[in-house]
Amino acid sequence: MPRSTDLGTPTAPRFTVDGQGHVAGTRQVASPHCDVRPPGTAITLVVIHGISLPPGKFGGDGVEQLFMGTLDPAAHPYYAGIAGHRVSAHLFIRRDGEVVQFVPCWRRAWHAGVSSWRGRERCNDSAIGIELEGTDRAPYAAPQYDALADLLVALKCRYPLTAAVGHSDVAPGRKSDPGPAFDWGRLATATGYRRLDERRGVHL
Ligand SMILES: [Zn+2]
Repeated sequence: MPRSTDLGTPTAPRFTVDGQGHVAGTRQVASPHCDVRPPGTAITLVVIHGISLPPGKFGGDGVEQLFMGTLDPAAHPYYAGIAGHRVSAHLFIRRDGEVVQFVPCWRRAWHAGVSSWRGRERCNDSAIGIELEGTDRAPYAAPQYDALADLLVALKCRYPLTAAVGHSDVAPGRKSDPGPAFDWGRLATATGYRRLDERRGVHL
């Protein structure tokens, strides 16, 4: 729901989503790491991730370069092991709340990997991937929760979404992000959406 002013007047939505899944209000950067969704696949899930490059360092260009396929393997010891990974996400929320879109939502971004949600494999087929700049342990920043809440509301207006869950919930044992630092209750409060009963996550 849009946040209101003190007078109770709804403010204009921060984000809107067009028919191709471009999110107005975000910075557009086109990643080559995407392809088409299987025909007839509804977009029903949001997978929330945490990432920072180098790990634990915020504000640099590493994540953007990784998703663009331009990460320099010599720029940091950690990069040598990941520079060739062909990964992306639809959306990336920086610590200050800036949102970058790498893949339009109608296309399939490559973020979840081997994964399963309620019996359906390959979550990338039906999911929108949202990365938060962060780590599993450091508290995520307030502007990130604000941006994420506004994004979920905008995406829910366009797609038949049913839930937002963590990467760790669709790839348990293999992935740990967004980690215990991510406050699902705070997200539920910011959006007005109910929390999932059995897992971390929220109903959409
Ligand atoms: Zn992840």
